[in-house]
Amino acid sequence: MNDTRVAIVTGAAGGIGRAVARRLADDGFRVAVSDLASTQPQLDELAGELAARGVLSHALAADVTDEADMARLVETTVDALGDLDVMVANAGIVSAVPLLELSTAEWDRVMSVNARGALVSYQAAARQLIRQGHGGKIIGAASVAAHQSSALVGHYSASKFAVRALTQAAALEWAEHGIVVNAYSPGLVHTSMWDDLDREMVALQGGEPGDVIAGAVPEIPLGRVQRPEDVAGVVSYLASADADYMTGQSVVVDGGMLLG
Ligand code: NAD
Repeated sequence: MNDTRVAIVTGAAGGIGRAVARRLADDGFRVAVSDLASTQPQLDELAGELAARGVLSHALAADVTDEADMARLVETTVDALGDLDVMVANAGIVSAVPLLELSTAEWDRVMSVNARGALVSYQAAARQLIRQGHGGKIIGAASVAAHQSSALVGHYSASKFAVRALTQAAALEWAEHGIVVNAYSPGLVHTSMWDDLDREMVALQGGEPGDVIAGAVPEIPLGRVQRPEDVAGVVSYLASADADYMTGQSVVVDGGMLLG
C-alpha cells in the first residue's frame, strides 16, 4: 500500500469514527482525527495510539457545522501530513422524539450536525482536492435511516436522507475534478450513540436499558449487532483504489436489516 495517503476522520472520538481511523491507519494512511473540543482527551489518546504504531497523525478539534473550523482542519492536516486524499465525514447525532412533540429547535439541532455538517465537511474537502488537482475521495455517513424511515427518529431519518441526496449531487458536480463521493449506511451499530438512543426510547416507551438493541437483534438476518469494525471495513473499501469507479452511492452495511 502507498503509505503517503492522507485521510481526515470527523467524529473520531465516537465508536465508528475511532474504528475507521484505526482501519485507515492499518491501510497505510496518515490520519487526522477530529471531533468536538469536549472530546480532546479521547482525540489525543487516539492520535497517541496511532503515533505509537508509527502512523503519522494529527488531532484537531473542529465542529463540523462551522465552516472556519472545517477549513482550519483541512489546512492544518495538509500542513502536518501532506496533500489530502480522503475525507470521512462521519460525525453525527441522533435523538428519539415523536413528531408531534418534536420542537423546531430539536429538528434544527439534528439537521445542523448531520446535514449541514456533511455539507460543510464535503465542501471543505472538495475545495482542497480541487486546489490540489489530482482528485480524491469523500465518504459520508448515511444510515439505514437514509433508505427507510422509522417512528420516533423521523428528524434523524430526514437528515440522513439529506446526506444521501447530497452525496449524489456532490458526486455529479465534482466528477469532473476526479473526486468520487460515496457514503456508508450502517444498520444497528453498538456505540455510545445507540446507548443514548436506547435510554431515550426506554424513557418514551418503557422497558429496561438495553431493550432496544436486544429487541432489534432478532430482526437482523445475520443475527448479531453490528460492530464498528464492520463499518470500518466498508469505509476502507470506499477509500481504496478498488472503489475508484464507484460514485454517488450510499452503501448499505446492515446485516440484512433492510431486507427484513
Ligand atoms: P458516536 O456518538 O459514537 O460518535 C459520533 C461522534 O460525532 C461523537 O464523538 C460526537 O462527539 C461527534 N460529533 C457530534 N456533533 C459533532 C459536531 N458538531 N462536530 C464534530 N463532531 C461531532 O456515534 P457512532 O455510532 O460512531 O456514529 C457515527 C456516524 O454513523 C454518525 O453519523 C451516525 O449517524 C452514523 N450511524 C450510526 C449508526 C449506529 O447504529 N451507531 C447507524 C447508522 C449511522
